[in-house]
Amino acid sequence: MAKLTPMMEQYMAIKEQNKDCILFYRLGDFYEMFFDDALTASRELEITLTGKNCGMEERAPMCGVPFHAVDSYLNKLVEKGYRVAICEQVEDPKQTKGIVKREVIRIVTPGTNISQQSLEDEKNNYLMCIFCSDDSFGLSVVDVTTGDFRTTSMDELHKVVDEIFKFAPAEIICNDAFMISGADIEFIKDKLGVSVSNIDHYYFDEEQGEAAIKSQFHVGNLNGLGLSDHPMGKIATGALLLYLHETQKNALNHLMSVSPYETSEYMIIDSSSRRNLELCETLRDKKKKGSLLGVLDKTKTAMGARLLRSMIEQPLIDRAKIEERYDALTTLTKQAIAREEIREYLNPVYDLERLMTKVSYQTINPRDMIALKVSLQWLPPIRTILEECGDSLLSGLREDLDTLDDVAGLLEDAILEEPPIAVKEGGMIKDGFSEQIDQLKRAKTDGKQWLMQLEERERRATGIKTLKVKFNKVFGYYLDVTNSYKDKVPEHYIRKQTLTNSERYTTEELNKLADTILGAEDRLCALEYETFASIRETLAGEMERIKKTAGVIAYLDVLCSLACVAEQNGYVRPKLNTKGLIDIKEGRHPVVEQMMSNDMFISNDTYLDSKRHRVSIITGPNMAGKSTYMRQSALIVLMAQIGSFVPAQKANIGIVDRIFTRVGASDDLASGQSTFMVEMSEVANILRNATKDSLLILDEIGRGTSTYDGLSIAWAVVEYISNPKLLGAKTLFATHYHELTELEGKIGSVNNYCIAVKEQGDNIVFLRKIVKGGADKSYGIQVAKLAGVPDMVIQRSKEIVSELSDSDIVSRAQKIQVSNEPQQLSLFANDGEPTMEHPFMAEIRKKDLSSMTPLEALNYLYILQNRL
Ligand code: ADP
Repeated sequence: MAKLTPMMEQYMAIKEQNKDCILFYRLGDFYEMFFDDALTASRELEITLTGKNCGMEERAPMCGVPFHAVDSYLNKLVEKGYRVAICEQVEDPKQTKGIVKREVIRIVTPGTNISQQSLEDEKNNYLMCIFCSDDSFGLSVVDVTTGDFRTTSMDELHKVVDEIFKFAPAEIICNDAFMISGADIEFIKDKLGVSVSNIDHYYFDEEQGEAAIKSQFHVGNLNGLGLSDHPMGKIATGALLLYLHETQKNALNHLMSVSPYETSEYMIIDSSSRRNLELCETLRDKKKKGSLLGVLDKTKTAMGARLLRSMIEQPLIDRAKIEERYDALTTLTKQAIAREEIREYLNPVYDLERLMTKVSYQTINPRDMIALKVSLQWLPPIRTILEECGDSLLSGLREDLDTLDDVAGLLEDAILEEPPIAVKEGGMIKDGFSEQIDQLKRAKTDGKQWLMQLEERERRATGIKTLKVKFNKVFGYYLDVTNSYKDKVPEHYIRKQTLTNSERYTTEELNKLADTILGAEDRLCALEYETFASIRETLAGEMERIKKTAGVIAYLDVLCSLACVAEQNGYVRPKLNTKGLIDIKEGRHPVVEQMMSNDMFISNDTYLDSKRHRVSIITGPNMAGKSTYMRQSALIVLMAQIGSFVPAQKANIGIVDRIFTRVGASDDLASGQSTFMVEMSEVANILRNATKDSLLILDEIGRGTSTYDGLSIAWAVVEYISNPKLLGAKTLFATHYHELTELEGKIGSVNNYCIAVKEQGDNIVFLRKIVKGGADKSYGIQVAKLAGVPDMVIQRSKEIVSELSDSDIVSRAQKIQVSNEPQQLSLFANDGEPTMEHPFMAEIRKKDLSSMTPLEALNYLYILQNRL
């Protein structure tokens, strides 16, 4: 084999250590890629593929991107799921002989991309690590761009999936066991566009992980972090830190602690309900506009916007915590002027969390520092206003709001108002901050003066009127003489360069002067950079205080936003109860009402309790407003538990532990399951995981199959849900099967409601009002007519419907006995737990399996099967 050039040898050695990455190899002003990396990158980035002589017979495929535009190329690759290793020159080429030393300084992955270009201000960019062992799971999630870091443990896979959808991370890393745990990885990837990769088992080594946690958070043991209750979470956290250290190659000082949490602290919302209720984005086009977040978000800062999003993603269930938020909102709605003043001060506050990340990564520039200073300026007036708000949450925030006067003062004294972005070219430190810098600056300005004097002197001495002292980066200072004065140039002028219209000269005097000036300039730049770096260090030292203030600002911003929305949209403070009563008077859909003008939205009541009103069967024609009504009820409960006021005239909300929805339209067809299969697996999930404290929204259960099957399933589901011995969850159940209204009276806790319509001749008018009782007709043909189905088809449908009487099925439905007894349940009705012991169970338990041969065991199985 031919010998590689020394540079290619270096490249190969570095590439060998970063096989799973695309290597961006710094060469002058470019990052170059070679071989397979070049082929991939040129294809993905649509850049030209060239070649480079690498010593071997064939040229190495090569492509490159300019370093000043690297961000956009890098983001493109990372968004497509690639990992990019950035390899820089780590020595000054001027000071080295031979090949410059290069090292990978950072590996960028989807979950660790800190490029501002790729980040959305209002969204966290989470990296999640999942550790699975037997049937236990540890989960750890971090946003390296803000320092938000949490961990938890779980014992059921579906809870892990719920958490994945809650955080919607950009990248998931996990151990091999999680890949085969039964989680539908393809579905997760597809729905969230997240990259999922299993990492080597050494990351999950407990001892190593513990050491990483201790050193990251500067603690001697893990108890103080609260990780002792989360042994699985601890392993995931350790692995996550090891992964971060390996990829970020940075101390990550802004990750100051990890907060353990229990999934039971928050309302559980499964992934399909999250999407169906359109909490943070719409189902169809994944936009914030049109979602609940879109209505509630009037935050002024990026930190507030992110916090509000995460509050919506995880509503509370602790009554005291929710009431605390209501109290603050009550104060902020009463003191609207103070609130609006605070909001105005919040307006210019920059993203302190992401600014501090830049401090940690040492990528902060002088302009960012000015942004920080400007932000800090608004803290004292905010604090003053908070003094007047007597509420306890707001007072607590005031106490925690460190106005960081010393930091603001330092930045004010040190950094010029409009500094450059570059940190190594000077021009950023204010006069009076450092005596040494001031001296050098004087030398620079004096130097300009000297140059002007020299120019004047030379003009006079030579008689060259157009003689000028000029500067460029390559030649430094020179005397410029136009061709017409060429013959007047004195002997002692030294020619530097000849151009078409002029000649460039220097003199000994000019050379000396240039040395002094340029020397001063170089020293000035170096000293300014040193000063800047030491201010950066000071900021790093104040990380904890600044981050705490950022947290206060975010929370205050959210509370002001919720209060503002409550006032603008006429929301009320709900009452809370723990008796399971949901009593909403004149409730409205928070999003749909915004889309309608002039109070066109018709409000409706919702009443559910744990006794006689557990299940509402809702009938009414298509388009009547059934799903709007059900979603509005769920959203009002959810908003109440976020701590927000709600769109209603009055509301008393029994805190629910979970909200489940099974809503008509399915967007899961892409995953290869039939609509009915998706529907049934969602129903199965609900029936297995709901509790008596859950709220269920079921729309058109059983629709995806034949009438008889569908009706039977829907009927059995209602029986199961309403039975307190089995489930007893509060449920809104919309259905086309009018036969289900027969259940009212048969089951004490089932009530019928319908959405009223008025017949006007051949047409119907939607009244949008929910009333007691079942709908007697489905008005399908009228709705079809409204939708513009041709008259001929409408007429023919009418003929057919009059011949097809469904009285038969109704009368038979009337005769069905309600089953309240759990005897008919199958062997494993409840997630593997035998609810009623099947006779086989006792027999199987008695068998001594260790004394059976495999054949005997098989025969025994045959016997059991024959007896089934
Ligand atoms: P269904 O589920 O019964 O088919 P939807 O809930 O989808 O009906 O409602 C159909 C349309 O009716 C909605 O898009 C909405 O514009 C309108 N609508 C629903 N409820 C109301 C209401 N309470 N007030 C005003 N318009 C409503």
